[in-house]
Amino acid sequence: MRIDMKSGDSLILCYHRIAEGVDDPFKLCVTPARFAAHLDEIAQHGEPSTLAELSLPSLRPRIVVTFDDGYADNLSNAVPIAEARGIPITVFVTSGVLGSDIGFWWDRLSTLLRSRPPSISEITLPAGEGTVRIGLGSSSRKRDLQSVRRHLLALRVTEIHRVLDAVSEQWGTSAAPPADARPLTPSEFVQLADSEMVTIGGHTLDHVRLRGLPALEQKDNIVSSKEELERLSGQAILHFAYPFGGHDSFDDHSVDAVRSAGFETASTTIPGNAGPTADPHRLPRRMVVNWSRLRFKVALERWRLVPHH
Ligand SMILES: [Zn+2]
Repeated sequence: MRIDMKSGDSLILCYHRIAEGVDDPFKLCVTPARFAAHLDEIAQHGEPSTLAELSLPSLRPRIVVTFDDGYADNLSNAVPIAEARGIPITVFVTSGVLGSDIGFWWDRLSTLLRSRPPSISEITLPAGEGTVRIGLGSSSRKRDLQSVRRHLLALRVTEIHRVLDAVSEQWGTSAAPPADARPLTPSEFVQLADSEMVTIGGHTLDHVRLRGLPALEQKDNIVSSKEELERLSGQAILHFAYPFGGHDSFDDHSVDAVRSAGFETASTTIPGNAGPTADPHRLPRRMVVNWSRLRFKVALERWRLVPHH
């Protein structure tokens, strides 16, 4: 059986949350049973690896499991499954959100739109010097979420939270994130970092979209979050993931800042396999959603990490 893959190709997978039975409009959650099945497939077909091992030769394709953002369920749900199988995971943590009551803005937005009063048919958001009005409720909630999210992405994180506060006050509704979507507390973060199966990585202070921000602002954000994670964990933080991670979410200043801060790798969400020639500060990743074991195996085949039968 021929393995149709470039020699030395590796795969970096991107997960967010391990949770079950929760509202998940952004498709961030994989159930514990399915995550366990994914890890079993990974162990069967590849060499479960850390980012530090990526450049080392391996007979089987290296597969790195990563998590973005720093949700509490990474500790409660993902770690026991990874530890039981001896499979390493890397968790990219947004340092400034540790222990935060308001959590991540996209989870607040999800609550806000879910509790929108029926009389409200649009939302007004700041845009450039003025404002933009976005119609709501004409289609699915998911489409509303995507269009509002797209506009908010252009703003700084503190401004996004201010907008959500203002809209929730105007509508007389809640914009608190769902309880299940809370970030790690600082003490949970320390527990996570202490697991032998876990490598902690940086993900900025506040999950800002870096692209286009002044170079110094990017650098301050990246360096101060690295220092905070190192202070809390007592470990060197050597790996980074760009928030959002697509071509439109970071620029050359971000890459320079990450490299000069001393990060050995930086992961994007630009899809691809990580071959031996990949730039260590622009590593491609593959997003994983709540796929069945069979669907996950089909993905591995499609990415040419395992032979097609
Ligand atoms: Zn993220």
